Amino acid sequence: MRKREIFLSYGKQWVTDEDIQEIIDVLKSPFLTQGPKVVEFEQAVADYVGSKYAVAFCNGTAALHGACFAAGISEGDEVITTPLTFAATSNAVLYCGGRPIFADIDEQTYNIDPQDIKKKITDKTKAIMPVDFTGQSADMDTILEIAKERNLVVIEDGAHSLGADYNGRKVGTQADMTMFSFHPVKPITTAEGGVIVTNNEIYYEKLKRFRSHGITNENLSCDEGPWYYEMVDLGFNYRMTDIQAALGVSQIQKLDAFIERRREIAVQYNEAFANWDKVITPIQLSNANSGWHLYMLQLKLNDLQKTRRQIFEELRALNIGVHVHYIPVYWHPYYQQLGYERGLCPKAEAWYEGALTLPIFPKMTDQDVRDVIEAVRECVGEGNSLLK
Ligand SMILES: *Cc1c(COP(=O)(O)O)cnc(C)c1O
Repeated sequence: MRKREIFLSYGKQWVTDEDIQEIIDVLKSPFLTQGPKVVEFEQAVADYVGSKYAVAFCNGTAALHGACFAAGISEGDEVITTPLTFAATSNAVLYCGGRPIFADIDEQTYNIDPQDIKKKITDKTKAIMPVDFTGQSADMDTILEIAKERNLVVIEDGAHSLGADYNGRKVGTQADMTMFSFHPVKPITTAEGGVIVTNNEIYYEKLKRFRSHGITNENLSCDEGPWYYEMVDLGFNYRMTDIQAALGVSQIQKLDAFIERRREIAVQYNEAFANWDKVITPIQLSNANSGWHLYMLQLKLNDLQKTRRQIFEELRALNIGVHVHYIPVYWHPYYQQLGYERGLCPKAEAWYEGALTLPIFPKMTDQDVRDVIEAVRECVGEGNSLLK
């Protein structure tokens, strides 16, 4: 195969002139931040997933920090999460003084394994933070059952799964709180942005205060005058701007079409790689319908003449923007220095060694998809060429 002229990244936003016009309108309006657009976007997200409340943040990481704060995570608390995630998930626990405890993954779905969660629960466990890895919901039925038994808070990291379905409903109402991210590679974008959706009014109030310095003008302790407000929590300035929210309001209208296109591409990949001996294609559970934020192959390294790195570099040389998600979080030097050791979650580590992320995003053309399939065929050395 010839090198593609244009580098095909693994994920990419799709911003139209319509979206841009919405942003311009805000720039000409009286409010650049804390105006009507954030409220409108929050309502749109809540309506979409079917939750009572949504609280927008300046990014998904800040939103996760808010959720850990609202859940009351503090010094000495343990929160069980997966190592197969972006560092932001467990970092949010550290921000609050808690300790992330890593449970291993399920070998089929690569999501956190509820049976391993059970094994890792101690008297200090306060919450579980599953991640909907690649856009397929974690096994929330089982996780919620465990949480209920032990009185634990469930914070779902849905950075990958806005628009995905679980048990026939949109992801976002199962957990106590669910985070969605609007980083450009995620299902929809606000450039930077994130949200927590919840049905719990107490969490909702805490989240709203937390993103705005911990300041409130309700239930004040005294009547100083109309200017008076109080800071009651050590919050942050984690607000989303109206400029970002305007982009979000415009983008969310296209979410279903975006997800549909991602699903089409996933089907094309699944069909192309179905009978190959040297790769494993992603498995979906019958009660989940992934949003396909990522499409990941597992290379059967023992059956290959090449290393993952060789295949990766060959694909990159063809301008196919493959990637790897994720380096097990506790392998990072910061976590090593906190005392986490390699070998903690053997299944996640083994998965990482053979993982390869292929490009998938709504704006990909059928030709782009064919280019990826052809390049993978060539570099992995398997399957019939599309160019017979
Ligand atoms: C992107 C992502 C985040 C963080 O979201 P930001 O909006 O980039 O801060 C957290 N968790 C996972 C799994 C992610 O993919």
